[in-house]
Amino acid sequence: MCSARAADAKVLCVRARFAPSPTGDLHLGGAWTALAAWVLARRRGGATVLRVEDLDTPRVRAGSAARIEEDLARLGLDWDEGPAPGGSYAPYTQSERGPLYEAALAELDRRGLVYPCDCSRKEIAARAATEASAPHGAELRYPGTCRDKSPGRSMRRDPALRLRVPEESAVRFVDAVQGAVEERVADAAGDFVLRRADGMFAYQLAVSIDDWAMGITDVVRGADLLPSTARQLLLVRLTGATFAPRYWHVPLVLASSGDRLAKRAALGTVRALFERGVAGEEIVGALAHGLGLASDARPRSPRELVDGPAEPALRRDPWTAPSFDPAVS
Ligand code: GLU
Repeated sequence: MCSARAADAKVLCVRARFAPSPTGDLHLGGAWTALAAWVLARRRGGATVLRVEDLDTPRVRAGSAARIEEDLARLGLDWDEGPAPGGSYAPYTQSERGPLYEAALAELDRRGLVYPCDCSRKEIAARAATEASAPHGAELRYPGTCRDKSPGRSMRRDPALRLRVPEESAVRFVDAVQGAVEERVADAAGDFVLRRADGMFAYQLAVSIDDWAMGITDVVRGADLLPSTARQLLLVRLTGATFAPRYWHVPLVLASSGDRLAKRAALGTVRALFERGVAGEEIVGALAHGLGLASDARPRSPRELVDGPAEPALRRDPWTAPSFDPAVS
């Protein structure tokens, strides 16, 4: 498959990825993101890449990755690269990519950008709350408690490894859906975790190194991950990367009841819809219309969406999925 970068960092071809976590069956929100990634790649003659993000082992469910792949195939979404077809950026399953994350961590460490932290979650919360810059949102800014402590000290518990976020940590980018974003990582997140105390590589490290190493040009994912993007861009910049992907943060999908689908796993899985006799094309048609990729919601296959603007203006605000009830006549 084509490679994303020449030595001068010019993009040679589009590579869009879908990166599900195998923690349950594919829900409509996942299908929505996958469809957007697939269409954005195909409209520009690019490659579709499927990456399985299974690092958070307590949440991973056996067999879930295979079921997600089956459901995607049933929707008509095919992947040029991924765990099943393979590809020149293999492996495509994060639990098999440890040496790569290890190398990135070592490079950051060599640059003096990593330090151990043995604070408990409770201690961080207590200290962050007393700081004038305590955040108002859900994310906790790490107050830098261990930043200047000796890394050779005896630790009170297994330490996490954190990134020493530089002062000049301003990140600016234009999200292709949500618009311009500007954030100073030092203020928003502080020194964030690269490897957790339990030894697991943190999502922020794995995802940004993978997107970079796999030559991803277009990162398509849910808008709930928009606040992570500045951290990820900063991280790859600090490892020496000269190329940044384009981000498309698609809005969340709500169940007809208004609930978030991702939080209610049993609600709105694609598998449950198939079992109720809803056809893949019906799902794709509704999602494509919701996303702004089609002018109506009639059933259609993904292939029927390939002709269309290469830079579509995607929907920006949350979308309420239909209930896919059988038509009453
Ligand atoms: N694996 C993450 C999820 O399924 C998505 C990560 C990403 O797209 O950056 O929620």
